[in-house]
Amino acid sequence: MDAAQVKALTKELGADLVGIASAATLNAFPPDPRWPQTPDRVSPHCKSVIVIVSRIPVAAFRAKSNIPVQYLDMLVLRRMDRIAHKLTEHLEREGHPSFVTAAQETDWNMKKASYGRLSTRHMGIEAGLGTFGLEVNILTPEFGPRLYLTGVLTELELEPDAPMTEQVCIGESCSRCLHACPTDAVLHFGIDKRNCAIEAQEFGYMTATQFFDGYIDASPAKKKEMLKARDVFGFWQGLLRVVGSFGDCPRCLAVCPVGNDYHAHLADVQKKIPEKTPEKVAKAKAFKKARVDGDPVTGLDDWNIRWVGTDGYQGIVARQLQEFKKAQAERAGMDEDGEG
Ligand code: SF4
Ligand code: SF4
Repeated sequence: MDAAQVKALTKELGADLVGIASAATLNAFPPDPRWPQTPDRVSPHCKSVIVIVSRIPVAAFRAKSNIPVQYLDMLVLRRMDRIAHKLTEHLEREGHPSFVTAAQETDWNMKKASYGRLSTRHMGIEAGLGTFGLEVNILTPEFGPRLYLTGVLTELELEPDAPMTEQVCIGESCSRCLHACPTDAVLHFGIDKRNCAIEAQEFGYMTATQFFDGYIDASPAKKKEMLKARDVFGFWQGLLRVVGSFGDCPRCLAVCPVGNDYHAHLADVQKKIPEKTPEKVAKAKAFKKARVDGDPVTGLDDWNIRWVGTDGYQGIVARQLQEFKKAQAERAGMDEDGEG
């Protein structure tokens, strides 16, 4: 099987996007060389990584609360894992040992919590599917950051896709993700993971261990009271449906104006950002100045710029919006002519 056949099959199985990264490149460019998330640490035989994207249905970001996104996250992840698993079965039948990696696992030998054996965001970028946003989610031109990714590690040598060099993220002059973030966790092409976890992992691992730490030393009366807390129900929901244990805060995803799904269904409801404050606006302005002045910025240094887009922002979102409006006008014209 060649790369085109593998991609066609993956799409047939239900993937929204698919790209291929070479294992050699992923081994040579770990996201953080001190804690290398590389395929060779998982399997020395891996030649290629087939990166699969499943988008999150956009309607969830139009809802009144975050709950529909939280529930859909679980469904999207399950579906994506099934697509990846079917692909591995097919590849193995063709004689190419292949397996799927868990998208939401943590490697405790490297860092504690939310640090997988592989970084799916970086794999997606190496597979040519997008580039980093200011909040270091992968932004695809098709769906912005509203998606999940996983990787199939295969011993089949496949032609890799070329990474994008054009920055997909509008950057500091947009900063809508920064304005919307409830815990001010967005950094300059970086993220304060602890601050993000407060909202994004409301009932995640940290919250659970903190709760039970307190429970162990509590008096019998306090223990009774603690067991009635909303937290305990949250942990139960997390175990049952993964809801609340990760991806719980969708604000930076909802407001990002990249992607035709945003133009079509989110521009109206997400235009205004209630969380925007003068302090956040000042923070974004300082980011912009630092970039213009060429100040040292970790997220944009010689190592990390690879995943942000070495050519900088060149108007991809504006170009897409124009094309989108043109297509909409053509469709409206066809409908009027009764041809649609
Ligand atoms: S909201 Fe704007 S700044 Fe943030 S990731 Fe999206 S395009 Fe980039
Ligand atoms: S997921 Fe929520 S808390 Fe985390 S960076 Fe995005 S907006 Fe902020």
